[in-house]
Amino acid sequence: MLKLENIKTYYGNIQALKGVDIQISEGEIITLIGANGAGKTTTLMSISGIAPPRSGKIEFFGKDITNLAPNHIVSMGISHVPEGRRIFPDLTVQENLDIGAFLRKDKEDIAKDLNYVTELFPILKKRRKQAGGTLSGGEQQMLAISRALMGRPKLLLLDEPSLGLAPIIVQKIFEIIKEINSKNKTTIFLVEQNANQALKIANRGYVMENGKIILSDTSENLLTNKEVKKAYLGGE
Ligand code: ATP
Repeated sequence: MLKLENIKTYYGNIQALKGVDIQISEGEIITLIGANGAGKTTTLMSISGIAPPRSGKIEFFGKDITNLAPNHIVSMGISHVPEGRRIFPDLTVQENLDIGAFLRKDKEDIAKDLNYVTELFPILKKRRKQAGGTLSGGEQQMLAISRALMGRPKLLLLDEPSLGLAPIIVQKIFEIIKEINSKNKTTIFLVEQNANQALKIANRGYVMENGKIILSDTSENLLTNKEVKKAYLGGE
């Protein structure tokens, strides 16, 4: 479904990605783990066109999307939930959700998807007329994910969805991510600091260090890998 080939991305003179290769198949949950500043966010931004790579190739269902504009990439079926859950704080929950469906014209299906996200996150229905900025951190994350789902993506890019949330909410968010994948067959690419939890719901994982992928394996193997345990899972 998605193939990154030797991706190199820069911020001015700073090279953030130094030749990244990643492959994702339809239906998978893939996680990308690594320390602060390793290049995880830049990887997602390279895919969604926000930080276009200087060289390398990104293919989505065999089509070259490397230099397409972000809105074009969204319309092809890739939605990105950025770090820090950037919702529109002055717009209501409903208006935030409407924006997620902005590029669509299929009104009946939009209504179905609105039902789907409010079933996933019933609290959003209750808060429908409230300004996004008045929601709690966890509710804002739910809104950010729901807004992305309103674009009916084939591939959902999630950047640190658990960041700064209370443990009980984190648990809920991970459960919902799994549900989005299993119920709606949405493929998920999940960037997480919370490597333990991420690997528990993912099929496979990539480990990134200093702008490069240093390891990729099944989640099962990564969870028991000595080096990974020591560096990222807080274990021995
Ligand atoms: P974190 O978990 O802290 O977000 P990350 O793994 O997502 O880390 P990136 O945010 O992708 O890492 O950063 C990769 C590298 O690019 C870092 O060295 C970072 O300092 C640098 N970088 C990121 N954004 C910019 C920017 N806007 N301008 C310059 N350098 C940047």
